[in-house]
Amino acid sequence: MIIDVNENNYNIEIGTSIDDNLIKYLKKDDKRKLAIITDSNVYEIYKNKIENIFNNFNYFIYVIEPGENSKSFENYKDILEFLYANNFTRSDVVVAYGGGVVGDLSGFVSSSYLRGLDFISVPTTLLSMVDSSIGGKNGINFCEMKNQIGTFYFPKHVHIDLDFLNTLDKRNINNGLAEMFKYSILDDENLFHELDQEFKNIDIKNAVYKSLQIKLKFVREDERDNGKRQHLNLGHTLAHAIEADSDYNINHGEAVGIGIIKMARIYYKLMNSDRDISKDIVNAFIKHGLPIDYEIDLDKALNYIKHDKKVRGDYINIILPTSIGNTISKKIRIDNLKDYLELGMN
Ligand code: ADP
Ligand code: ZN
Repeated sequence: MIIDVNENNYNIEIGTSIDDNLIKYLKKDDKRKLAIITDSNVYEIYKNKIENIFNNFNYFIYVIEPGENSKSFENYKDILEFLYANNFTRSDVVVAYGGGVVGDLSGFVSSSYLRGLDFISVPTTLLSMVDSSIGGKNGINFCEMKNQIGTFYFPKHVHIDLDFLNTLDKRNINNGLAEMFKYSILDDENLFHELDQEFKNIDIKNAVYKSLQIKLKFVREDERDNGKRQHLNLGHTLAHAIEADSDYNINHGEAVGIGIIKMARIYYKLMNSDRDISKDIVNAFIKHGLPIDYEIDLDKALNYIKHDKKVRGDYINIILPTSIGNTISKKIRIDNLKDYLELGMN
């Protein structure tokens, strides 16, 4: 299955047993040097797979420690030095072979070294498959803020090999599922029902494909500058506060899921609507073992939110689901945000 992202001129390939397709893609220009960035977990599990693919090419491998702390200035600098030491030039390539941490760090490296090397993304977690590997955002953490420094930089190719999911633990599967639920709540009730069943029964290839189509649709529509991309932030403003408040013990997808439930509840209470869709979302999450609540002190949450990249002056847009498959954006004063959040809390 291939998605052509015409406007940014790259392909996303989705499938199983697709190592040969990556080899074929790379063979189009096999003189280039490849810097494969991965983490030690992925390297340990997939050393043979990596060698089988990349032994056909001139490659250099750089292995980072797993985990969010690796998205650091130190690693950024170390990888740049690694590229320098191995004489990488502008015609060479950076390959991210891992989850979102690897992808965000390598994307930033590739966008800045020599003002930009080609970047290929091989996401190995469900979350990075449906989210960070496309859309062109990268970054490292700074002053305790996630992704505070980074660029927009599109990959030349995205290779989504669903076989990676076979070794991913349930919590990391759920991390991606929550983000897929988000896409379904934004735009596709059928996808919601598909996801609302045991993981083994989900047609994951199709669900990933549909999730990516929705993400791309929203990113695309934003090029007409109507703020549509902001809807992709559903649940995220609160999620970032929850993640930070929990010292990242609550992972991104879990926090987004909780954020979405709160936003649905805010809409329900605000509009006195007849149907509370937060209940449908809660029921679906319980089936997967996704958390449905997190106690957070609202003043603390607001403190995090004030530094959010989505704040514009005294205002922030919050995205509220009106039904499964539709959302609205509401511009509110930061001063009033606490009152809104209170509505969502119980
Ligand atoms: P994300 O930001 O995409 O959630 P991370 O890069 O933080 O992902 O990866 C989450 C964890 O999963 C890390 O410990 C990583 O080493 C591990 N991991 C990544 N891909 C796989 C995989 N295919 N199988 C098993 N573990 C994996
Ligand atoms: Zn997200």
